[in-house]
Amino acid sequence: MITRLSQLFVRTLRDDPADAEVSSHRWLVRAGYVRRVTPGIYSWLPLGLKVLQKVEAIVREEMEAMGAQEVRFPALLPREPYETTGRWTEYGENLFRLRDRRDADMLLGPTHEEMFTLMVGDLYSSYKDLPLSLYQIQTKYRDEARPRAGLLRGREFVMKDSYSFDVDDAGLAASYQAHRDAYIRIFDRLGLEYVIVKATSGAMGGSASEEFLAVLPAGEDTFVRSPGGYAANVEAVTVAPAPAIDFTDAPEATVVDTPGTPTIASLVAVLNAEYPRGDREWTAADTLKNVVLKVTEPTGETWPLAIGLPGDREVDPKRLEAALAPAEAAPFEEADFAAHLALVKGYIGPGALGKESPSKVKYLVDPRVSSGTSWVTGADEQGRHVLHLVTGRDFTPDGFIDVAEMREGDPAPDGSGPLALARGIEMGHIFQLGRKYAEALGLKVLDSNGKLVTVTMGSYGVGVSRAVAAVAEATCDDKGLAWPLELAPYQVQVLVTGKDQEMSQTAEDLAGQLSGVGLDVLYDDRKASPGVKFTDAEVLGMPIAVVVGRGLKNGVVEVRNRRTGERREVPVAEAVTAVRELTGR
Ligand code: ATP
Ligand code: MG
Repeated sequence: MITRLSQLFVRTLRDDPADAEVSSHRWLVRAGYVRRVTPGIYSWLPLGLKVLQKVEAIVREEMEAMGAQEVRFPALLPREPYETTGRWTEYGENLFRLRDRRDADMLLGPTHEEMFTLMVGDLYSSYKDLPLSLYQIQTKYRDEARPRAGLLRGREFVMKDSYSFDVDDAGLAASYQAHRDAYIRIFDRLGLEYVIVKATSGAMGGSASEEFLAVLPAGEDTFVRSPGGYAANVEAVTVAPAPAIDFTDAPEATVVDTPGTPTIASLVAVLNAEYPRGDREWTAADTLKNVVLKVTEPTGETWPLAIGLPGDREVDPKRLEAALAPAEAAPFEEADFAAHLALVKGYIGPGALGKESPSKVKYLVDPRVSSGTSWVTGADEQGRHVLHLVTGRDFTPDGFIDVAEMREGDPAPDGSGPLALARGIEMGHIFQLGRKYAEALGLKVLDSNGKLVTVTMGSYGVGVSRAVAAVAEATCDDKGLAWPLELAPYQVQVLVTGKDQEMSQTAEDLAGQLSGVGLDVLYDDRKASPGVKFTDAEVLGMPIAVVVGRGLKNGVVEVRNRRTGERREVPVAEAVTAVRELTGR
């Protein structure tokens, strides 16, 4: 196939879009692949659509190869099934809700567990029908709080979602594994460097889950990995409570004056000046910091929560979000403090927390604040702190919460060595949902003993439109896009950089021959200057360029590799062979 650039619906832009934060966004817009309609919502132009369709084709091939069957559900859905599973409320503001002319509530599907569960329940009733895996490649809607980075976080986006149905746990484990293997093949073919990490299941519910993260600094996810092979999204890292320490000989808790120490740094300075330990300096890690938050349930109900953690660590907002989902937390405001007079800002201690009266503030602590550990913490009075307050002796929290930030060098929870932190883009997510949706929506089948059993399910997503952006992000440079062969809209771009007849004839012939061997060719036949053509070729990012220019009078053309920057002059007659070598065709 040959497409003439003079005919193609595309305009390259000289300026970055105003909202561009990441390179892929900048170049996909400037190269005329996508156009923004409104925040988080994009139109696909011919070049972009070709890449999207190539990603879809890879995903489709691998899903078919593992035995999943393609279906397609509507995006516009009734409220009822989502009401039944609780997600009509739990999805909160992320759900696009609307109303039809009869005043019935509708939604735009953010993900389709409910619909697939109902469909299978409608049609199947026996264990003999299972296992079953169904998938669709379809448009999803989420009213994201922060649509960002172009296609990376859209409010409308393309997802491949699949669902497995099994009669027992062993079946689910096998379906999960088959999806996992298919995902490995998909992301290998997309040419992304990725990691498979332990994940949390968020609003989805269910148990085991893993994410496929493309390792890229532009990602919004942080993950950890150890030399021994532990890998997890920071949201999913669980820190085991340290074993209890014997506190028989621990010094008694003592309240001391620490005027003007509402921050950890000011407190540590006063401790070392006024109450030296003797054995070593006090550090922030000796202090117990109590952070108070207002938690809002999806129903709108609110309750106060205090989190106790070592003073040298902050609460990680993403770990907090994951731990509380579907509820959400916000910092305490003046009005909240006014409603809880026992809480003295800057000096909050366990003494004022977790008590029944006047209005209970639930008190959860970091796993490092385990039984027998000793702390300096607020005395619930202005300018005073307690030394040697021992967990389990002097106070008993309501439980643990694992939301402190993870740090480079922290030990892996499985003892496999120190953790390194890096950023990634979530490309895929696989879940063992279990029976939650099947139970809620009554999906049961007769097992081999004629007994009705609830089906167990898995749910598996790939961000298809996000993948276009992630590959662009991983491959672009300061000159433009640089697609891998398998995803490029055209594998070869032919440029003619002179006006004479022989040059255009040669370019035309070469384009024809390249197309003849099965390559998709973009032919820059425009009456533009060589400079413009070279720049555009780099911006558009086809993997190979064939330049017909001044060299032609010596019988040579230039073959350029966009990704390695390599350039080679070859006799006209050998140009096709040279390109075939590079493309493997
Ligand atoms: P994230 O944590 O990035 O918000 P998620 O965990 O909410 O994603 P899932 O519900 O697991 O996403 O959806 C499956 C896949 O769909 C994700 O792995 C991701 O690749 C893609 N995806 C999710 N949200 C978006 C979005 N707003 N824009 C583009 N792709 C998305
Ligand atoms: Mg996810």
